[in-house]
Amino acid sequence: MEKLLSLIVPLYNEEAVLLESFRRMDAVRKEMRYPCEIIYVDDGSRDTTWEILREIAGKNACVKALRFSRNFGHQLAVTAGMDAAKGDALIIIDADLQDPPEVISAMIAAWEQGADIAYGKRRKREGETFMKRFTAWGYYRLLSSMSAYPIPLDTGDFRLLDRAVADTFLNMREHNRFLRGMSAWMGFKAVHVEYVRHERYAGGTKYSLKKMLKLAADGILGFSYRPLTLIGYLGIAIMVAAALGAIAAAICSASMPVVGWLWALTGVGFLQGLIMAAQGIQGAYLNRIYDEVKGRPLYIIKEKLEMTK
Ligand code: UDP
Ligand code: MG
Repeated sequence: MEKLLSLIVPLYNEEAVLLESFRRMDAVRKEMRYPCEIIYVDDGSRDTTWEILREIAGKNACVKALRFSRNFGHQLAVTAGMDAAKGDALIIIDADLQDPPEVISAMIAAWEQGADIAYGKRRKREGETFMKRFTAWGYYRLLSSMSAYPIPLDTGDFRLLDRAVADTFLNMREHNRFLRGMSAWMGFKAVHVEYVRHERYAGGTKYSLKKMLKLAADGILGFSYRPLTLIGYLGIAIMVAAALGAIAAAICSASMPVVGWLWALTGVGFLQGLIMAAQGIQGAYLNRIYDEVKGRPLYIIKEKLEMTK
């Protein structure tokens, strides 16, 4: 049977880019060797995005559009698009044309050669402020040093996912979603396709600083235990330092007078360290509860070999 592709495009107040964005994506779609549906998810836009979508969907059978009751955020808009997609491969792309739709053909080629995930890796970012580029650069490196699973550097959500990967996503219903981390956690065969990230076609970013910080926190808290365990280790280090200080003071006090507050200082230091170490232990339990609550699959089977009669 012929394979189907699904393009998933989240939209939040994108009236300024939507028509041009559709034109470019539709041109790429027509060049494809496979039939392709385009799934738009209107994430509670307050401008005319939905009216424009109504017009596009009325004229193009390949277009499906969903509209959220309010703004739920980019990661959930993409998730809703994935839930609705019927394709054998899903391609996630922003509406603003920062990720050129033309790169999709390279992702499809990688998929045809056996890749389960083909993610876009930004070789260069055009038209973004120094601050944005610097914080993004720093964040990706911090994240990859903290995460237990290698999350590729300088990649966003622009990527192709094979149906097997998408099905695994559909089983992961955690609320604070960080899709690129989830995709790294899953494993599978991932390859990258390099591209130059362009300037936004029109309008401003829809990722406010608050949304950006929430996403950054979801990346670290969803994929690393370090913030909790580090406190425990720091507490143990403080306890050891305070105990060594007390021992040194005891040795010195045999031959010379030692100021009285040193005992108080080492005592308080030791107790403070103990409290932090205890927090670390609580953190270990909390991590386990968090794991249970997230309810990620225990393991993911990629293929099976079985003798059939
Ligand atoms: N977006 C969304 N919901 C939001 C914020 C953004 O669906 O709450 C969409 C937006 O319309 C765009 C994509 O997510 O298609 C990426 O957003 P944007 O380009 O504003 O982010 P940036 O590239 O500036 O990080
Ligand atoms: Mg953008």
